[in-house]
Amino acid sequence: SATPAAPRPYDGLDKLFVAGTWRDGGSGETTPDVNPYNQNILAEHVLADRHDLDEAYAAAARAQHEWAAAAPAERANVLARAVRIFDERREELIGWCQRESGSVRAKAEFEVSAARDITAEAASFPYRMDGDIFGSDIPHKENRVYRQPLGVVGVISPWNFPMNLSNRSVATALGCGNTVVLKPASDTPITGGLLLAKIYEEAGLPAGALSVLVGRGSVIGDYFVEHPVPKLITFTGSTAVGRGIAAKTVAGTRIKRVALELGGNCPLVVLDDADVERAVDIAIIGRFLHQGQICMSTNRIIVDASIANAFTERFVERASNLVCGDPLDPATNIGPIINESQLNGLLDKVKRAEEQGARVLLHGEPEGLVLPPVVFGDVDPIWDIALQESFGPLAPIIVTHGEDEALECANMSDYGLSSAVVGGDVERATAFALKIDAGMTHVNDMSVADERHVPFGGEKNSGLGRFNGRWILEEMTRTHWTSIQHAPHPYP
Ligand code: NAD
Repeated sequence: SATPAAPRPYDGLDKLFVAGTWRDGGSGETTPDVNPYNQNILAEHVLADRHDLDEAYAAAARAQHEWAAAAPAERANVLARAVRIFDERREELIGWCQRESGSVRAKAEFEVSAARDITAEAASFPYRMDGDIFGSDIPHKENRVYRQPLGVVGVISPWNFPMNLSNRSVATALGCGNTVVLKPASDTPITGGLLLAKIYEEAGLPAGALSVLVGRGSVIGDYFVEHPVPKLITFTGSTAVGRGIAAKTVAGTRIKRVALELGGNCPLVVLDDADVERAVDIAIIGRFLHQGQICMSTNRIIVDASIANAFTERFVERASNLVCGDPLDPATNIGPIINESQLNGLLDKVKRAEEQGARVLLHGEPEGLVLPPVVFGDVDPIWDIALQESFGPLAPIIVTHGEDEALECANMSDYGLSSAVVGGDVERATAFALKIDAGMTHVNDMSVADERHVPFGGEKNSGLGRFNGRWILEEMTRTHWTSIQHAPHPYP
């Protein structure tokens, strides 16, 4: 039988989606959306201003009542249709991830799958808004706890895994009966928001239930966060910006909820009984996937002295064989850094590591925005290259002696997002994993991982709250205790 024709690709992605209408932002200021590999201009967006935000939030508030009152099946069906659209348009979406954020094929596939899967998870949420009934010490009284939507959710997302990091808030908020205003990063407005708007519009989401506003965080960010309409701000991005958002939400003039998914400095610990080849595999992909620009990227490699030489030799060899260049070429492992200012920041970090005494074991020259892997040996865990998130293909190797020193080193960070442990004895490695002060630890696998049904989130400066599964359902809802007195109360 004939395979169904691919749908016509979406057009009009140069417009914003405000309150159900595709149009330019009101600021008049345009910004080019640039392919970081070849600098081609993919679109020009006219940025949003405060009036657009008012309009989007007002429409979301209006749409929310009807959306929340709709039968669970109605909400579930919109999300299920969105899942089908993710599947039908998979190649189109992968192509955009490759062109707009410089993603190699494997990363783009991972991203589109993750975004699709969280939508499938969220399609079950309308049927999972469970309440509770409790007895009471007071005669004839009944306690009911209802689970209610929050109302309108404001979502701010970064440029590195934009489709998934926006959608893990958008889909789950919608599944719980909330409506959404989304501000994607200005480096990735199409994959971080406008494609999602197209998908949900095509899936039949009511007008106004999702708006996508492109604008600079520094210009509309405060207003977006402090606006009276949203009840929750979910923010994924840097710790510095996240701290400011915490001050304006939980501690703001209008106290509101916040979910913060912030920076990482994820360790990979290679124990003395690890299989070296397996550890190198895990380190290479965990460090260099998406050029190291992932919050869960392995930022520090901590190796036991007994196998450090063998590990380092193989790691450098494997890193030097990675193919760098055009992300659209299926053979490419390392694509471009997102923009010039990020690249310059990385080159400064390389210089600083050298000044502090790191031994450079591998260092290719950047070509355009493509920076080949840089590997450092003999790294002291208190140097900047180990203590700060690099968000690029820079790999510091730290040598430790025994488990205690490795653990101290792994926990020597203000961040606690993901982590990984490689060891031959799985139970010993798992016991070690549980001592790492992080929200996530992967045994004999890389630090980069995300599944729709298990809790994703960090400790320490990596944030507050958890995404995915029942954890995000709780973040996206509130309880409402309602008590009923069934008989006249014998008040004194
Ligand atoms: P960023 O903090 O610079 O920007 C994130 C978003 O915040 C963007 O949309 C930006 O426009 C917006 N923003 C900037 N200033 C703002 C303000 N004052 N008010 C409101 N919004 C504002 O981060 P980035 O460079 O896009 O992303 C990289 C960082 O994100 C890294 O630190 C990385 O570890 C982190 N990250 C964390 C996770 C996670 O799940 N924990 C996932 C991906 C990225």
